[in-house]
Formats: sequence, structure tokens, C-alpha cells
Amino acid sequence: MEVFYHSTRSGEVQVRASQAILKGLSEDGGLFVPDHIPALDKDIKELAEMDYRQVAYEVMKLYLTDFTEEELKGCIDRAYDSKFDTEEIVPLAEAAGAYYLELFHGPTIAFKDMALSILPHLMITSARKNGVKNEIVILTATSGDTGKAALAGFAEVEGTRIIVFYPKNGVSPIQEKQMVTQKGANTLVVGIHGNFDDAQTSVKKLFSDRELAAEMAGKGYQFSSANSINIGRLVPQICYYVYACGRLLAEGRIAEGEQVNVVVPTGNFGNILAAFYAKNMGLPIGKLICASNENKVLYDFFSTGTYDRNREFILTASPSMDILISSNLERLIYRIAGNDPEQTAKLMAALNGEGRYDITEDMKAALADFYGNYATEAETEAEIRRLYEECGYVIDTHTAVASAVYQKYRKETGDEAKTIITSTASPYKFTRSVMNAIDPEHDAKGDFELVDELSKLSGVQVPNAIEEIRTAPVLHDRQCEVGEMKDVVREFLHL
Ligand SMILES: *Cc1c(COP(=O)(O)O)cnc(C)c1O
Repeated sequence: MEVFYHSTRSGEVQVRASQAILKGLSEDGGLFVPDHIPALDKDIKELAEMDYRQVAYEVMKLYLTDFTEEELKGCIDRAYDSKFDTEEIVPLAEAAGAYYLELFHGPTIAFKDMALSILPHLMITSARKNGVKNEIVILTATSGDTGKAALAGFAEVEGTRIIVFYPKNGVSPIQEKQMVTQKGANTLVVGIHGNFDDAQTSVKKLFSDRELAAEMAGKGYQFSSANSINIGRLVPQICYYVYACGRLLAEGRIAEGEQVNVVVPTGNFGNILAAFYAKNMGLPIGKLICASNENKVLYDFFSTGTYDRNREFILTASPSMDILISSNLERLIYRIAGNDPEQTAKLMAALNGEGRYDITEDMKAALADFYGNYATEAETEAEIRRLYEECGYVIDTHTAVASAVYQKYRKETGDEAKTIITSTASPYKFTRSVMNAIDPEHDAKGDFELVDELSKLSGVQVPNAIEEIRTAPVLHDRQCEVGEMKDVVREFLHL
């Protein structure tokens, strides 16, 4: 049965999967949602026999129904290949009684790779299917992680170009080095003299600049966005939950029909929403445990039914979760409002205006599968240390937030169900915080010195992604003022 995509904010929009991927966001500002959540058409025992690519096909074919088998398998094979440093793609590590699903074995050693390694191929295929002849130009503002993952995904993908703007003095040295050493003639990385908000605001303006769009169309280009609300990023994230449950069954760690809980360190609400979709497809998932850092908007939301972004923004050691507006939550709101676009639009307008909204009692009751909590900075650090001391397993700061919240959940509820904790970044991505937690006395200073120390302590080999940038030449040294971003784009595209 074909799955069509509607906007969360109006009942009029109906597009095919490939069109939703090309557009990214609906014109009314809403997010694309499937008209129903399809059920898995293979049982879990069968899925448990499959490798990652096969599982990915079984899941994605149910959502991207206008892709042919050949097209979809082609995208999957090009995405989940030797770019990942393990055959398994997403290994499951058992430590201190929980299962850590390691989503960080891709090219940038963080979980954004799971979606961004396939999105470029889905996008090119979508363009071809819809008769789009233009080259696709991806424009991104980044505070660090997403930029590199998008660069790695789109580099050298024929028919695409990618331009990344980052705040020149607003990313970590390792993050900057990762970006400015990016290879690929279709890539451009530019440091702007301004902060992330300046970059983001200007990028949004460029997206809606009609004059620029016309100029680009004349030369055979059009913009598209790789940001996390694209359905082409959400769907690939459902696959690893199905794969993980399959592994647990195949290895005899759960019985058929036994439910597992899932804990997700949450920022934009994409990863945990994918788990929610997986559960609704029939996967044996029990609780969906939403873990926040000190920016605990979501914890407050799940406990009170009020979403309120009016608060201080706190910089934490888990920066990818420092978010006050979790964009993907809109898809859950739409669902618990009974797929009602008017009510969703009203709540999102309130969020835009007053920065807050309240959901109804009925909507609250529909959230029973979720549990929210948060971990403070001290609790996060202590959790990294505990796991290291108890079993020698080293986790990054984001994963530690999830792991600490899992401890709170168990204590509070006594629920001893088997649990998957999604591990969203390699500890080598946040080496300084991790080292401070496991060896507070260390005297390593430079970033690479810290990497070597961590390798010695953990016995885990330094990932290629880090080894490479130690010696890689800088290929991008362009800088510009915020007001010059449009000129930089025009120059790169020879307009
Ligand atoms: C993006 C990110 C998250 C948050 O994921 P969402 O899908 O935005 O909720 C958590 N951890 C890491 C390391 C990330 O990069």
C-alpha cells in the first residue's frame, strides 16, 4: 500500500515519499508525516537472521513506497559500506547490565552518520524520479557536528554540491579540523565572523531569496536542506531499532515477544521519534525513555504537559543536546492530537509567539509509553566514571546522559526489563570531557595528546576519523563576514 506524506500543519498537502525528501519542509512550515505508520511485514525471527543492509531495506521499503527495489537497495549499498569501521554497522555492546547500541561507527564517529550517509543518495534518486534536472545544492549552517556529517555524506556524490558555514570561533579545534580538511571538489567550507545564530539566520534568508533562486535555476541549480526534519533522515533511523531487537533475539538475550526498553539521549527529538515509529510498526519495545541534559525542556514537557522554551540556555558537555526547541516533537504532537493539523498548527503558533504551549489531558494520556528525565553535568560525569570503573567500557557525554537517566528510571520504577541505550557518539569525539571524568588527574593538554591518553586507558583503538585529521592538509581556509555569505554562494556556483 502506498504511503503518502501530509503536512503536520494543513490537511491539504499530500505528496509522495520522494517529493517529501526533495522538499524537506512543507510550504506551510509543517513537517511531513506518513499518513499511517506501516506494520512490519516480516516477523522479528526472520529479521533477526538479516544483516544491517537487509534490515534497512525491509524497513525503508515500507515508508519510501515510490522507490523501486533496485533504487532503494542501491541507496542502501552506497551508504552502509566500508565508510563504517565495522561490518556490523551498528554493534551492540553489553556493559553493566544494559545494551549500548553503538551508532558511531560511521565516517564522523557520531550518530548523524546513520542518516546523513544515505540522505544524499535518497535525494539524488528522488530528483531523478521527479524529473528534476538541476544539480542539488545543500546549504547548511552548523555549530559543529551536523556540518561534518553532511559534508562526509555529500562529498563526491554526483549531482550535488554542499556549502557549510560555521562560526569561525564557535566550534572546537577538532570539529574545525574535521571540516576544513574535507575532500571533494563539490564541497565548500567557510568560517564566518559571527556566531551560530548569525550563520543560521543568514542561511534561512538565502533559502527564501527568490532572486538568488532564479539566478541559480538559470544555471541549473536548486537548493535543498539536509536538516534533521527531512523525512529522509528520520526513516533511516528506524532501521537500527529493528536491527537491534533482531540481534537481541538472535543471540538469545530476549525471548520472542519479550519487550525491551529504549533510552535515547535527546536533542531535536529525531532519534527517539524513530524509536516511537519502530514501536508502532510492531517492534517489541516497551518504554521510550527520553533523556535530557540540563536543558530539560522535554523532561518538563513529559511531566507537566507544558512545553516552555522560555528559560536560560545552558552550555553543557553534551552540546548536541543543548536545544530548547526540539523540532521533531511536532510530529509526535500531531500524532497525539489524533493527526489533527489544525490543532498542531495552533500549538506551534503558540510556541512561535509566546514560546510555550499546553497540551490537553487526552493528548497527555497518549504519552503513556514515554518516560522523561534528565541528568546534571555532575551526574553525567559520574556515570562515565562508574561505567569505566565497573567494566572498563568508555562512553561519551551524550550516551552518559542517557545511561544516567536509565539508572534513575530503574530506581524510580523497579522496571528490570532488558534495555537498549543508544550510544550516539564515540568517546573520541568528546575526549576532553571523557578524560576529565575517568582520570581527573591527567595532565594531557593538547587535543591529540588527550586522544592518545584515552586510547591508553580504554584500550580502544583510535578511530580512523581522528587519525586522519592529525596529518590531513587544510583544504578550506575561506572566511567571510555574515553579510558576504550570498556572494560566497554565487562565487562557488559561478553565477
Ligand atoms: C544529534 C545528536 C543527539 C540528539 O539527537 P536528536 O535526534 O536530535 O534528538 C544526541 N547525541 C549526539 C552525539 C548527537 O549528535
